[in-house]
Amino acid sequence: MPTLEAEYYVPLEGNKVKCVLCPRECTIPDGGQGFCLVRKNRGGILYTVVYGEVTSAAYDPIEKKPLYHFYPGSVIFSIGTNGCNLDCKSCQNWEISRQETQRQFFPPEAAVTYARRYGSIGIAYTYNDPIIWFEYVKDTAKKVKEAGLVNVMVTNGNININALRELLPLIDAFNVDLKGMDSDYYLKFSSFPSPNVWKVCEEIRKAGKHLELTKLIVPDFDEFTPEYFERFGRWVAENLGKDVPVHYSRFFPAYKLLSTPPTPVEVLDLAYDVTKEYLYYIYVGNVVDPKRESTYCPFCGELLVRREGYDVRVLFTSDGKCPNCGRAVDFVF
Ligand code: SF4
Ligand SMILES: [Zn+2]
Repeated sequence: MPTLEAEYYVPLEGNKVKCVLCPRECTIPDGGQGFCLVRKNRGGILYTVVYGEVTSAAYDPIEKKPLYHFYPGSVIFSIGTNGCNLDCKSCQNWEISRQETQRQFFPPEAAVTYARRYGSIGIAYTYNDPIIWFEYVKDTAKKVKEAGLVNVMVTNGNININALRELLPLIDAFNVDLKGMDSDYYLKFSSFPSPNVWKVCEEIRKAGKHLELTKLIVPDFDEFTPEYFERFGRWVAENLGKDVPVHYSRFFPAYKLLSTPPTPVEVLDLAYDVTKEYLYYIYVGNVVDPKRESTYCPFCGELLVRREGYDVRVLFTSDGKCPNCGRAVDFVF
């Protein structure tokens, strides 16, 4: 198992260490490991035990991340490892995120070789949370950029700001999976208050990087009222911008919430209708709804991208304009 000394930790007395990569800031005794499972203290030195260690790899449609406004219709080589710094009650990938499994070694150079195949535009660090894979993501992302390709992070955003700032120049697009709107929600749903997430989203925008948000709507955790979604839409518009796409996702029973029923489809309709007043681009996921998976011009209503599942038809002009009103589209392509 390749191990590498981790970045972002401070030694403490008695061979303990404090990891400061994410806001959990785990104090780890000699022989122990952090909450994320994959940063381990051996003799007072913190190691990452997943450098280059890949559990899952696939060529995915970029829409699967989901990123709808970033090279629409393209394919991206997607990789993940073990571990996570949250423990969300409905984790779809808990088998890799909350335990160690079999892995295959992909040094950064090998990952870049795969990233060039099958028309892939680069690498998406996804499946588990890439924050806890920091050292490998950083090294690989540098090589990906040198090769003229792009880097994408699909993340919970639970990272300390200094570490984020090291990644920002390397990552072209982020999908931040927002769990809730406040610390209480995070604590109840994800086991940790995650105080940085909103600030992380703001930093991503300030750095001029592409950002999309995902919000899973979960019965018993989210309020099914217009005021609730209004508050969310307003916050995103005021702090991040009206042009940040939001993906509302339908909950299905999983992991620790096996007896919670799926989100009623009418609630997704409500979230969509209410938030549309504040934001240009709202989508619904985990439901078949081509109308609400497609993109319309926020000025004239013209269809700009038609989506039906992963079938994507780009209808804006090749120079990035709405074919009806001529407004520049909010897409990276
Ligand atoms: S990255 Fe892992 S070890 Fe470090 S503070 Fe976060 S959960 Fe703890
Ligand atoms: Zn238009």
